[in-house]
Amino acid sequence: MPVSIQENKEALETSKTATVLDYPIRLGSLNDLVDAAFHAPPQAGGIHVVTLNPEMIIKGEESPEFGDILKNADFPLPDGAGVIWALKRQGIQQARIPGIEFATALLETLHQTQCPRGVALLGAKPEVMGLLPMALLKRFPNLSLAFAHDGFFRNEDLVPIVEEMASTKPRLVLVALGVPRQEQWIKAFRNRFTEDTIFVGVGGSFDVWTGQIQRAPKLMQALNLEWLWRFTLEPWRIQRSMQPLLQYVWKVLKG
Ligand code: UDP
Repeated sequence: MPVSIQENKEALETSKTATVLDYPIRLGSLNDLVDAAFHAPPQAGGIHVVTLNPEMIIKGEESPEFGDILKNADFPLPDGAGVIWALKRQGIQQARIPGIEFATALLETLHQTQCPRGVALLGAKPEVMGLLPMALLKRFPNLSLAFAHDGFFRNEDLVPIVEEMASTKPRLVLVALGVPRQEQWIKAFRNRFTEDTIFVGVGGSFDVWTGQIQRAPKLMQALNLEWLWRFTLEPWRIQRSMQPLLQYVWKVLKG
């Protein structure tokens, strides 16, 4: 029998967490966290994974509705280098858990266990979604693809898309609509899915998996400089990210 959200939250709270600016963060290795997500007790609304970075936290500070989604997520992961830096200031050594790596590991697990319930994919441009199923199946041939739809749909198609997606009873739902839309979508519709569904907002991961965007070279990733790589590829991000980044650093330093 599925446990209530409250019981599940209590179970999750006994595992290692920290907070950065009042935002809970789950600690641990990628493998342990993937394992924990797959074994999380089923609950109404499934399991929501968020991949926290400074920009999201500042967005959460500006919009209490979005802040609540982040604070109440079942698996808030330390994705951004700024989150790792803030943890370090508290004496906590934690490796980055990039959302794309977490999502890849979830797909890998579905493939390895030959899980009959599959993945549902929502988001990205139609031409990217056109390439994504083949790209994933090439990498994970045992993966079951439950549903796929691009992220540029009309408002009146929103609910029919959700209904069709939920009817396939996916084990994993990956939503690539950008922040904060993907998290808001998950909050709004998670209750329509089965209780063990894992939801992850994956940002630009579909673009990476289909080769439209390159991830940073390994050395930059290891040095937690992936954000710098992203600025080089998409300079328009600098203007968008700089102010929230400075706000974040100031808030963390102020304690
Ligand atoms: N996207 C979408 N529908 C939209 C706007 C964006 O599906 O209406 C997709 C976009 O094509 C990309 C992803 O959402 O694949 C956004 O990823 P990115 O990490 O660039 O966004 P961010 O979260 O940084 O805003």
